[in-house]
Amino acid sequence: MNTSISKTANKIIAMIENDGPVTLERYMQLCVDAYYGGSEPFGRSGDYITAPEVSQMFGEAIGVWMATAWQMLGSPKKCNLVELGPGRGTLMADILRTVKILPGLTETLQLHLVETSYKLRDMQKQKLEEFGVTVCFHDSFASIPANPSLFVANEFFDALPIRQLIKTGDVWRERMIGFENGELAFAAGDIVEKPEWAGDGNDGDIIEISQARQRAASMIAEHVAANGGAGLIIDYGHEKSVAGDTFQAVSKHKFVDVLQMPGSCDVTAHVDFEQLGKDLVAGGAEIHGPKSQGEFLIAMGLREREAMLKKKAPARVRINLSRQAARLVSDKQMGLLFKVLAVTSHGLGKPHPFGDPNA
Ligand code: SAH
Repeated sequence: MNTSISKTANKIIAMIENDGPVTLERYMQLCVDAYYGGSEPFGRSGDYITAPEVSQMFGEAIGVWMATAWQMLGSPKKCNLVELGPGRGTLMADILRTVKILPGLTETLQLHLVETSYKLRDMQKQKLEEFGVTVCFHDSFASIPANPSLFVANEFFDALPIRQLIKTGDVWRERMIGFENGELAFAAGDIVEKPEWAGDGNDGDIIEISQARQRAASMIAEHVAANGGAGLIIDYGHEKSVAGDTFQAVSKHKFVDVLQMPGSCDVTAHVDFEQLGKDLVAGGAEIHGPKSQGEFLIAMGLREREAMLKKKAPARVRINLSRQAARLVSDKQMGLLFKVLAVTSHGLGKPHPFGDPNA
């Protein structure tokens, strides 16, 4: 048995035995911290695969967007390039490679990574210093220097903890995790207020809210409002706030019970893009979209890039490129569930492709 499995589970069980059930929010935070801070983040063979790990074409499209956004910002001489939750550093490596196409841009960039896992910081530093850039790490967006910023967050918000509220009888209660009959189990806690958007609901209905996401969105928006900036938030989720349980755990590319192996599988919850947009606007930023990932990537020229990469490639690689592109853009794979939301400071106008109703 993997010792990190029992370590996190034991820690949670001890907490519950000492102080009673923990909120789902606390449970998710403990799982995420243990997972990314553990000795094998992402698992030995990978528990799941993110868009930048599917293909370089993803990061290249983001890089092209960043280069255009830099020009929209007036080609600032000093510009932060920020990534939130950079994982293995693959997306940033592809962005850095791509922005070189615009003369003068790379020299203005200062790289800032918002990452809480020290294991991953080491991995990211190693990978990105090869580009001749200095890498600065941050616990949150609050400490990013006061310069215009380009930023990207891919599958970052889904890892920030949510709270769940469950309707029991006439009231909504905080969803908790307790320990019963030798197993972790869901429980209902204190009576709480539901958010305005939620209807009355029926017994057993679940709604999700997240203060951690709200805090992260506010920090980004306030920084962008004060210093200028533009960025992309990419994640899976829904365009409108709706009721439903999206708390999920994935291990070795399969869904597993969220209470089964705390700390040794990837736990996430879908992002509520309507709420995220509201929080960004409340913090002083402008938002554009969201668009589906498929629409966004195709409008950014993914098909043209695919054709170009195929030109000199042997048949086997051409087949792979087709598969990778389909995985990123097709409705049945990542194309529809994943959304791209653009965030800018006021007065920049609509960044491509958010201004084009046909894109
Ligand atoms: N963006 C990457 C990896 C996403 S995994 C990709 O697309 O492949 C989530 C990332 O967010 C990990 O790097 C994890 O360590 C980081 N993370 C999770 N919670 C965080 C927090 N509260 N603050 C900063 N980083 C966090």
